[in-house]
Amino acid sequence: MGADLSYVHPTANSPWGTYLSQVDRVVPYLGDLARWAETLKRPKRALIVDVPIEMDNGTIAHFEGFRVQHNMSRGPGKGGVRFHPDVTLEEVMALSAWMTVKTAAVNLPYGGAKGGIRVDPKKLSQKELEKITRRYTSEIGIIIGPHTDIPAPDVNTNAQIMAWMMDTYSMNIGGTATGVVTGKPLHLGGSLGRVKATGRGVFVTGREAARRLGLDLRGARIAVQGFGNVGSVAAELFVEAGAKIVAVQDHTGTIVNENGLDLKALIPLSRADGLVSFKGGDVIANEAFWDVACDILIPAALEGQITAERAKKTTAKLVLEGANGPTVPVADDILAERGVLVVPDVICNAGGVTVSYFEWVQDFSSFFWDEDEINVRLDRIMMNALNNIWDTADKHKITLRTATFAVACERILMARQERGLYP
Ligand code: NAD
Repeated sequence: MGADLSYVHPTANSPWGTYLSQVDRVVPYLGDLARWAETLKRPKRALIVDVPIEMDNGTIAHFEGFRVQHNMSRGPGKGGVRFHPDVTLEEVMALSAWMTVKTAAVNLPYGGAKGGIRVDPKKLSQKELEKITRRYTSEIGIIIGPHTDIPAPDVNTNAQIMAWMMDTYSMNIGGTATGVVTGKPLHLGGSLGRVKATGRGVFVTGREAARRLGLDLRGARIAVQGFGNVGSVAAELFVEAGAKIVAVQDHTGTIVNENGLDLKALIPLSRADGLVSFKGGDVIANEAFWDVACDILIPAALEGQITAERAKKTTAKLVLEGANGPTVPVADDILAERGVLVVPDVICNAGGVTVSYFEWVQDFSSFFWDEDEINVRLDRIMMNALNNIWDTADKHKITLRTATFAVACERILMARQERGLYP
């Protein structure tokens, strides 16, 4: 695997281990640039911060926070902030590295970064959530900024949290710096179309992949794991295109309906109470989700969900990776052997960072675009990127994942080489 960093201990299926093996697979396609490849296996900078807050009951609680800047060869760091009890430095490193690859794959002028706090935000009051967000922002304030590293929402973070982050950073510098984060509320420099952008990108790349496979979306059966910002929006767009959602899983459980779940009723309920309170489907065991007969599988929850065993049994012909790192390397090989097409995370879920880029550009120019313009530009960027990747995959007879890494890593390492090694 290489990159024997003393502070992480990746395994074959852990997020950083998965990422390292994806890099190993692309090295043979990098030509002379391969001499720089080790750069990809090391984060440029990793910050661990203590986040102490006074809880509503008067006690002092300490949380562990991270911000990792993986690579900034092509521009400032860009990547979300995750609030989750399982967040670790290793996970944030992998997520930041996938951001490096993703921003290069769609050719945005960014590097890759990611952040997180090891906390279950569902156990915090709104006041505690605001305090933890503000203290974390202040702690990582020494390395973020509109021209250095721009956070955004990820799992369990949203526009309100971005507003608190923007305000905290702004208070600390004595101004108003809307461009320090993206995914903000509309009247604070947010962009139309940002909330739905990642799910829309999953749909755009999925629609094109289905067309190339000859898979008709009308009547196609789709299973979605993770029904938050990414999964629920992608599901809605596929239903508009004539598909039906036959299974959905979130952290509360799994529901199925072979005739298609009624999303208009399901989405508001899932946001309030989780899926299992929904009466329009049958609740099944979580592991049975992977056995449900479907044409398209959309993992849109967390990493490491498609294991070897699950890859062997899925009936899907197409996997659209809404989540980051949902497929472990051995499962990737099994899917490829079984002829299941995987549109990898580093292109499939790039819609969010693409509209984040639009938001950042709009903040600097203080001129805001209408939603049609955003969606048309998003569609064009995603389609161009996907077509380029598809040509690379066909040329070298490699998977779309390795092709995406090949296109992206060539751009990253070319920038690295042209900049030269300092000093
Ligand atoms: P979210 O917090 O809005 O939703 C997460 C969903 O996953 C929820 O429905 C939750 O119930 C479900 N979930 C959590 N743990 C689960 C488990 N163990 N089993 C099944 N379901 C579980 O988060 P999101 O923004 O939709 O992000 C989902 C994935 O998409 C993450 O991998 C994230 O990194 C990735 N992603 C998000 C964005 C974005 O713009 N939000 C962009 C790119 C990639």
